[in-house]
Amino acid sequence: MEQLITAIQERGTVLSDGVLKVDSFLNHQLDTDLMINIGKEFATRFRDGNITRVLTIESSGIAPSLIAAHELEVPLVFARKKKSLTMNNDVYTSSVYSFTKQESNDITVSKNFLTSNDHVLIIDDFLANGQAALGLIDLVEQAGASIAGIGIVIEKSFQDGRAKLEEAGFRVESLARIQSLQNGKVTFLPEPVLQNT
Ligand code: 5GP
Repeated sequence: MEQLITAIQERGTVLSDGVLKVDSFLNHQLDTDLMINIGKEFATRFRDGNITRVLTIESSGIAPSLIAAHELEVPLVFARKKKSLTMNNDVYTSSVYSFTKQESNDITVSKNFLTSNDHVLIIDDFLANGQAALGLIDLVEQAGASIAGIGIVIEKSFQDGRAKLEEAGFRVESLARIQSLQNGKVTFLPEPVLQNT
């Protein structure tokens, strides 16, 4: 997605060979125009998926997911990283190891907001080693719901998250795919050329 790639090139900072900082438009300050277009792009890619709910994880997944869910006319649920005092014990929980924080956290969703009738689109900001996505998949599977696919804003293709998710049989749609962050430079994988049939 051109607008996202330009934002990464112009406003992203390579912190190391493994970590990209994008807090000026995605992880702290939000570029609202970009968020709206990202959400619309997810909705376009998954429109035929018979989706009944969008599931993401707080906090950076919420903005792009909100627009995607709005476009698809379905509710958005975000998994919480800390259990709220107002939540009772009727929750699904999974443990997720955080790539950036290097610690494990339980993520939680109320049983009221994920049911066995749901066909779920999972969205997250980054895909690295796939732990956050696998945790969200675990919550969906605990609910007995099915998964339409996984939408990722920025995929670091040099890590093995996509391979894990595809091996498990899931459709992964990433709006920007980064081949490398070496030498302080962002290199993207070429976007697939759409064939006219
Ligand atoms: P995974 O669970 O796939 O290993 O990592 C994905 C999660 O870690 C995302 O939800 C995101 O919050 C965080 N993350 C992973 N890599 C990066 C990165 O390079 N930059 C930023 N800002 N977050 C990342």
